[in-house]
This record gives sequence, C-alpha cells and structure tokens, in this order.
Amino acid sequence: MLLEAEGLSVTYGRTRAVASVDLAVGEGEIVTVLGANGAGKTSLLRALQGAVKPSRGRIVLGGRDVTAQSSAARVRGGMVLVPEGRQIFVSMSVHENLLMGAYLRRDGSADADIAAIYERFPNLARRRDMKASVLSGGEQQMLAIGRALVARPRLVMLDEPSLGLSPLFVEQLFSLLRDLNRDGIAILLVEQNTTMALELASRGYVFELGEVVLEGSSDRLLGDEALVAAYLGGA
Ligand code: ATP
Repeated sequence: MLLEAEGLSVTYGRTRAVASVDLAVGEGEIVTVLGANGAGKTSLLRALQGAVKPSRGRIVLGGRDVTAQSSAARVRGGMVLVPEGRQIFVSMSVHENLLMGAYLRRDGSADADIAAIYERFPNLARRRDMKASVLSGGEQQMLAIGRALVARPRLVMLDEPSLGLSPLFVEQLFSLLRDLNRDGIAILLVEQNTTMALELASRGYVFELGEVVLEGSSDRLLGDEALVAAYLGGA
C-alpha cells in the first residue's frame, strides 16, 4: 500500500473528530471518503498531511512511518493535500502560486513541472501574471491542484474540491482527476458528490462521528440501500 493509516485518532479537547480509523490507499488507486458534515473527513486529511497531530495511531507512506514527520517531509515523500476552500494565495499571481508549490521540492528547479502544469491548464497559462483573486472558482480550484502537482506527488488528497463549482466545472474537475490517475497518481478524495465520487473511485469509506461505519468497493457501496438513503438523497 502507498498510504496506510492504522488506528488513527484526532482529538480536539474533548471532541474525538477521528476515532481509531484504519484506511489505506494503494499505488495508483482512487479512494473516496464520504460522510456528513462534521463526520471527521477534514480532520482525517489534516492528520494524514501532518497539519494536525494525531492523538493515537500510525501513518505509513511508501512503507515508511511518517507519523512524527512534518508536512514538508510528507510532501517530499510524495503526498500532497489540496485543502478545503483551495487556500490559494489570492494576492499573488498565478505563477507565484505555482512557484509556492515548488518551494518544498528538494531540487529547487520546478520550471519543467510548471511548464507541464501550464500545458495541462491553458487557462492558467493565459492568466499567468494575473492575481489569483481574479480567477473564477473553477480556475482557482485548478490552480490549487496545479500547485499541488508541482510537488510531483504520488498521492493527491483533495478535500471537497467540487464545493461551490458549477456543474460544468465539476465535470471538468472529475475528468482532470481521471487524467491524473491515468498518469499514475493515486487519489484520496473527500467529496459531497457521493455518486460521482463512487463512480470515479474503486473503493470508498463512509465516516460517521469520526468512525468508519462502512467500507468497500464502489460498486458495493453504490448498491447499498442504507447508504444510498443516507447520503445519496434516496436517488
Ligand atoms: P465538514 O464536511 O463540515 O468539513 P468533516 O467531516 O470534514 O466536516 P471535521 O471538520 O473533521 O469534519 O470535524 C469533525 C469534528 O471535529 C466536528 O465535530 C468539528 O466540530 C470538530 N472540529 C474540527 N476542527 C476542529 C478544531 N480545530 N477545534 C475543535 N473542534 C474541531
């Protein structure tokens, strides 16, 4: 497995946001994490990326225990997070945002990678010197993903990337995720678009109050009547 979390718990004061979660993502796999607001999905991703320290458990990336490692070390280890709300630097240009993605790279030179991002996202290339604040929501999401890709990840984790996007941009986003996966990048996707996420992923985990209450192949989860009733609006 590329990424493994074992018995992972995240606690804020007396709130247990993530409770003894076991989760794995294989090399080149797409896995989705589903669940209602407050179920602990963001806390899980933040713990995996190293932004929050787990109270218990272990995180293993590419066979190495990274539980005690910094976020920067995990990025260098091949794992990047595209956070909820994108969190791009709005007062910086598109190009400067991409350069920030290269900041953690050991070799320092990211020219070729940034050129590849511009090739993948022609809209970003055209707006290279504009402030990120003038981009549309969909373009900002592409920039956030582009910035993550500059680090040459083996695994990209995304926290509700479709939030606030128009249906057209959501389609583009999912097709981008499919492309990235075809290029060999594994994806751990937290989504509210449950059906689309399960159709993209090969496996899914369903969170409730910090615990995994259901996991399995996407086909199995899509065929689960209770899950469909709870999260897919009975569709
Ligand atoms: P959402 O979809 O709303 O982002 P989520 O599934 O990502 O929800 P989390 O944001 O991880 O869930 O929150 C899990 C629980 O932890 C919630 O009860 C939340 O109120 C609590 N929580 C999250 N962040 C903090 C924090 N920084 N301090 C205290 N409690 C927090």
